[in-house]
Amino acid sequence: MERRPLLAGNWTMHTTIAEAEALAVAIAQTAIPADRDVMLAPPFTALAAVGKVLAGSPVLLGAQNVCWEPKGAFTGEISPPMLRDAGCTLVIVGHSERRHIFAETDAMINQRVAGAIRHELVPLLCIGETLAEREAGLTFQVLERQLREGLKDIVLSGAGQLVVAYEPVWAIGTGRTATVDQAQEAHRFVRGVLLTMYEKNIATQIRILYGGSVNPDNVDALMAQDDVDGALVGGAALKAESFCRIINFK
Ligand code: PEP
Repeated sequence: MERRPLLAGNWTMHTTIAEAEALAVAIAQTAIPADRDVMLAPPFTALAAVGKVLAGSPVLLGAQNVCWEPKGAFTGEISPPMLRDAGCTLVIVGHSERRHIFAETDAMINQRVAGAIRHELVPLLCIGETLAEREAGLTFQVLERQLREGLKDIVLSGAGQLVVAYEPVWAIGTGRTATVDQAQEAHRFVRGVLLTMYEKNIATQIRILYGGSVNPDNVDALMAQDDVDGALVGGAALKAESFCRIINFK
């Protein structure tokens, strides 16, 4: 069975509510080929407004992080039921900015993944090596650790419950994209690790997205790789024109 491509826009800490609504309107108005999924992840403050714009459209709403608890004294966090209430069906977890700027650990990310799945949100688990780790030949070791620890004790009943995003830290927001060979090599490795963790019919169907300076000029070549099942896009997702071109990759 073919894996259905997912094109996901991570708006990071950008957009006022009005800007987010306008961007979502422009994207929702574009013709989206029926064979692919599209997700927008605005900042928390704009989720409800963007959720209203997307209601009735095929574009999915995602958030940029999630707590593992449904409610309680967790100042600054947002819970899975709150995200569901705003219309989210997916959530980014373990983004490199959460790991490296906000010191989120694999154990914490594992709790977030579990909390999302418990509440029927699909986590988009981000993994990726730093430049120093790549140069030291540690890429596969880092990816395997982030996968095994991030997915520790996570039982899946279907491949649709999880998305993995390979985002080499050195390629995020730098304009320096991984080559198609580097992306495919990492994705194939990730697929191999998933095959040791889950039944074959699940591991072969989990979508693995590439993220890191994806743009209208490189998306077609990246998407042509066997194990690249979509893209997680930052900068180029903030302009309707470039994101719509990415959605319409060939
Ligand atoms: C991201 O923010 O997840 C990302 C991949 O950013 P960019 O596309 O700008 O590299």
